[in-house]
Amino acid sequence: VQKIECVNHCIKNYSKHLHRIKKDTKSVALETRKLLTNQRIKDLTRNAQKAIYANAHGDISQLKHDLQNSVPCSFGNHSKCQTYLCNHVGDTASDNMSQLVSSGGHHPIFGSLNLIVIKSSQLIDNETNNRAELFMSLLARFNMGKRLNLIQRDGFQMRSYLSALRYNVDQSWHHKSWKQYFSCNALVKTILRTTSSTCTAAMEYGKKNECVAVLKFQEKTGKTVERAGLYIDVDHGFLGASPDGNI
Ligand SMILES: [Zn+2]
Ligand SMILES: [Zn+2]
Repeated sequence: VQKIECVNHCIKNYSKHLHRIKKDTKSVALETRKLLTNQRIKDLTRNAQKAIYANAHGDISQLKHDLQNSVPCSFGNHSKCQTYLCNHVGDTASDNMSQLVSSGGHHPIFGSLNLIVIKSSQLIDNETNNRAELFMSLLARFNMGKRLNLIQRDGFQMRSYLSALRYNVDQSWHHKSWKQYFSCNALVKTILRTTSSTCTAAMEYGKKNECVAVLKFQEKTGKTVERAGLYIDVDHGFLGASPDGNI
């Protein structure tokens, strides 16, 4: 099993590291921090991303090489740039690279970049988790962000299926499926179905003899038992009870 790294996350982390270098007043020289403008951080991350995209399913050593060169390219030294990555090949008119090196700023920047470089072999397929992330974001909508306890009656499972449907067939998923899963008919059936796996022999007995028990109780005590439905707590709407009868 080989771990494939998510390109988006690598790039995001790279950008985060670069911003951290920019803010590090203790161990990073002022000149470096001045050179590392927000625009330059954008260039650095974009050039690294380009290198990964350009080398997708290609040669790992070329990807490593292109990643390394994304730094001088971003700092205006295009002497070693590749034509498929850069429009300024050979241009060194606004080269800030020597300035960066003399301020020692290349160390932390290459250090952060190296975190991507050492993952090159895993990035080569240019995989992103986007598909998984998209599915999970859909699922989060269906399961209301985990706020409900959906363990009962396969609630989570069903919502996962619905998310998959939504993912696979986009908006049209609900025309048929919503009806299938959420029409009143089906819902009532799921709640009241007697073949439920949670129905034990004792429960079966209870259901059959409920009315017998009520009759006997009335005979014995002389009290009248009225039919009762579902009672819902006014203050705590999630609490409910369905007593067998009301005296
Ligand atoms: Zn990701
Ligand atoms: Zn360049």
